Amino acid sequence: MDPLVLDAMMPYFLQHYGNAASLQHAFGWAASEAVDLAREQVAQLIGAEKQEIIFTSGATESINLAIKGCMEAYYRKGNHLISVRTEHKAVLDTCAYLEKKGVEITYLSVNENGTIDLGELEAAIRPETVLVVVMYANNETGTIQDIGAIGEMAKKHKVLFFCDATQAVGKVPVNVLQKHIDVLSLSAHKIYGPKGVGALYVRRKNPRVTLTEQMSGGGHERAMRSGTLNVPGIVGLGKACEIAAKNLDVEMQRLQYLRDKLENALLQNIPETCVNGNINNRLPHISNMSFRNANSNQLLGVFRSALAVSAGSACTSGSNEPSYVLMAMGLGEQRAKSAIRFSLGRFTTEEEVDFVIDFVMKKTKL
Ligand SMILES: *Cc1c(COP(=O)(O)O)cnc(C)c1O
Repeated sequence: MDPLVLDAMMPYFLQHYGNAASLQHAFGWAASEAVDLAREQVAQLIGAEKQEIIFTSGATESINLAIKGCMEAYYRKGNHLISVRTEHKAVLDTCAYLEKKGVEITYLSVNENGTIDLGELEAAIRPETVLVVVMYANNETGTIQDIGAIGEMAKKHKVLFFCDATQAVGKVPVNVLQKHIDVLSLSAHKIYGPKGVGALYVRRKNPRVTLTEQMSGGGHERAMRSGTLNVPGIVGLGKACEIAAKNLDVEMQRLQYLRDKLENALLQNIPETCVNGNINNRLPHISNMSFRNANSNQLLGVFRSALAVSAGSACTSGSNEPSYVLMAMGLGEQRAKSAIRFSLGRFTTEEEVDFVIDFVMKKTKL
């Protein structure tokens, strides 16, 4: 976490411990005002209005609420949903759950750099399609989809567009109006905030989106997500969004410079290496590389004394399966089984990158 985020949160554990829903006394007001500010900070980062932000326990919950909540709320229109094979497990497992309940799902494929085909998307839209679900940027490769074009197409066909932007928010500019996004998920711990808190953007006009709540109770968060608010967590998420917005441009350039330095050095010095993902449109801080003479799990073993890298997403680590994201891109088993994801962050220094270049070159010579 960014220490500034922790500083912002601390008073809301100790002094201002009121319930944000208790508006009969000053303890409640202090908490409620803090939540209000955080709502504004989150909204600002994505070009939304604060009334459009629903606080949750993280992106997984936001995704469940978005997909299940839309399919339930718009059941009269139909029961068809379009998603993509390379989505995060939180999306794919929610889709699998709905499939068992009778929802029809079309999974779009991706090309070798991880992007979907807009013609294929348009062809998949039917009169009974309720929702299109496409992530902003992939968590394993950093590949960014053509979100503006997808949003426009959904709008043209009067289908809702839910975008899981958990990896993109705070890393690249995200604007829900410009990109015609109707519902969007994000998470605090991906942007130097605390774990266990996130948000869902739910559009209020053109069109006004309604979601069936997945957690019933006291009617918090416009009745879409009941339960006493996690005030310190929400304050932390708000602060994390404020910091991310302030530094976005400079930080993007810094990370891209460091990422490219790492990538170019490894590509030049280690035979049979290549980059996975869309090198022309991807997040600035992720590098997914295959070391085709090696095996990911063996590499993780020799790297782990000094590096925290992974072969896929954290959620699927521990399995020996090749990444389903890389397999869906059609890169083949050898390339998928030799892939390593490096990710850089706010506190990564150039000295660290230089160390990693050296270290990886030495270790892959063994
Ligand atoms: C991390 C992540 C999630 C899950 O977020 P949690 O807050 O950990 O539930 C969902 N989607 C993407 C793209 C992610 O990177």
